Amino acid sequence: MRLRRCLIVPVIVASLAFPVAHAAELQQTRDGVTLAYQDTSGSTAADVRDRIIATFFATYPRERRDFHPSAPSTVRIVMDPSYDGVAYVGEKDQSATITINPRWLEKHPNDTDLVTHEAMHIVQGYPGYASEQAPSWLVEGIADFARDHYGVDNGAGGWALPTQVKPEHKVDSGYRVTGAFLKWGEAAHPGLVKALDAALRSGRYTPSLWKQHTGEDLPTLWDAYVAQRGGTARGA
Ligand SMILES: [Zn+2]
Repeated sequence: MRLRRCLIVPVIVASLAFPVAHAAELQQTRDGVTLAYQDTSGSTAADVRDRIIATFFATYPRERRDFHPSAPSTVRIVMDPSYDGVAYVGEKDQSATITINPRWLEKHPNDTDLVTHEAMHIVQGYPGYASEQAPSWLVEGIADFARDHYGVDNGAGGWALPTQVKPEHKVDSGYRVTGAFLKWGEAAHPGLVKALDAALRSGRYTPSLWKQHTGEDLPTLWDAYVAQRGGTARGA
């Protein structure tokens, strides 16, 4: 009897008093999208888990609606302590799955919009990666363009697209550098990013698309962007 009380009481006290991490398997459906959240090792604090889930539902359905309405309607988020990157997207058990390193979130608990970037990779669903038909710099640039556009709390995570072009920035730097360029290009040529995304998804992407949609080839467009941001153009 005494032993029994000792086992039970501290658990109850701890769960009431602290935002402790605990193993979780949750499933929720909103806006026609089902999310299965899995953290079998109990690696992530409940408040971070709740913000990850809220960020997913605030962003993935909109990204999906705007870019690829037939993208998967069921998505899994898996917390995997054995993964030592930040996060990635892949298929697990035939479900589109976002795998996240919980230690990254422990160190950067406000970087919850990493889900917005990864969710866009599910929307993209391109047939390849790091190929001529799907260059990785452009795939990652579009994912960061989406993080900027749809993100819930990028500021809290200390995340923003660069407003200045540094000498080391190139059009194919990818991620935020390319994301900022895409945002600039989209403002001048509405529909540009959607056109690029659609071409990438169907395997029809070629560099000539830039000229087709903007009137300029890619190097010329990048030079115009750099000049507008007060940088030095490629050919200078
Ligand atoms: Zn990515």
